[in-house]
Amino acid sequence: MDKLMVLPGDGIGPEIMDVTVDILDYIISKKNLKVEYEFGILGGCSIDKYGIPLTDSVLEACRQSKAILLGAVGGPKWASTDPAKPRPEDALLKLRKELGLYANLRPIKVYDPLVSVSTIKEHVIKGIDILFLRELTGDVYFGKKERIVKDGVVTAYDTMIYRDFEIERAARMAFEIAGSRSKKVTSVEKSNVVESSRLWREITIKVHKDYPDIELIHMYVDNAAMQLVRNPRQFDVIVISNMFGDILSDEAAMIAGSIGLIPSASLRDDFFGLYEPIHGSAPDIAGQGKANPLGTILSMAMMFKYSFRQEEIAAMIEKAVNAVLEKGLRTSDIYDPAAGGSSLVNTKEMGAAVIAEIRI
Ligand code: NAD
Repeated sequence: MDKLMVLPGDGIGPEIMDVTVDILDYIISKKNLKVEYEFGILGGCSIDKYGIPLTDSVLEACRQSKAILLGAVGGPKWASTDPAKPRPEDALLKLRKELGLYANLRPIKVYDPLVSVSTIKEHVIKGIDILFLRELTGDVYFGKKERIVKDGVVTAYDTMIYRDFEIERAARMAFEIAGSRSKKVTSVEKSNVVESSRLWREITIKVHKDYPDIELIHMYVDNAAMQLVRNPRQFDVIVISNMFGDILSDEAAMIAGSIGLIPSASLRDDFFGLYEPIHGSAPDIAGQGKANPLGTILSMAMMFKYSFRQEEIAAMIEKAVNAVLEKGLRTSDIYDPAAGGSSLVNTKEMGAAVIAEIRI
């Protein structure tokens, strides 16, 4: 029996996870899959109950699973500038670090029925299929950070840190994945200024020697931010450090039309994975049935592909998502009343429509 840990989290997390688990139940029963899942609490709701965002027992249950499906964490209730206070987002950093999840895959695909939803011109984005590989265990999120008060001046600092092996394994996975795509990797960094980026470039060039059939392009992050909206078609696989990847993949989400559409997989070498949409807990729309569940549903498709090795089920979910979009169903983030032939639906209706399109 394969074990799966389900962590809905905060804000819109429980809403989008509800409909995703309905689809999971449907697939498990129709396909007679040997998968059992357990719910756990994480983030702000865990702070409320236990005073910490991730308990040892939830972490242990995650370790015993084959995969984790996560909604989102955080919200204004727990936001604080006091460094001593627990933060919901710390749960994510700890999960990634403790479980050794070093590669975050974020596919940015433009679905044909949604080309007009993006704020970017149709001819620029039609058919876009970019894969971000964001490194997850290094960078400023994990380096030493501190506040010092001296002579009446408050100083805060964060350390942008990378170790060679962290860069090496991310680069290697990017080249491996590029082999089954268009054989092109763009490595994004800021090596004209930043020392950890200079190491990033050096190691990427070293690893590239093992992949002579893959083209490697180096690009500074400021230029990459511009090129993503100028001509995204030039990209296929993008390998990028933790913070730059966090920022640029949100920018790239808007090529697809909405952050609510983008799934992600955080993996390690044995393909144990954490699957979650790239968006946050969207407190501005939480509890209103407005959240787009497709990013979470597509994250579950990635889970079937990578951790459960069920490519056929993954493809079936992706096809069902495409079909509901073809039929014109839109949550509010992708609804354009000016575009005829589409109807506004809520989170649950979108989930139910996906189930109706799943052919088993
Ligand atoms: P956000 O991604 O939650 O929201 C940004 C905007 O996108 C909002 O207008 C929101 O309504 C919209 N949006 C996001 N997901 C959507 C969906 N599925 N359907 C429709 N619209 C959607 O980012 P934020 O507002 O900067 O952050 C809110 C909280 O989430 C913060 O506490 C932040 O730290 C946290 N956060 C968590 C994660 C995570 O859990 N992985 C990631 C990013 C931010």
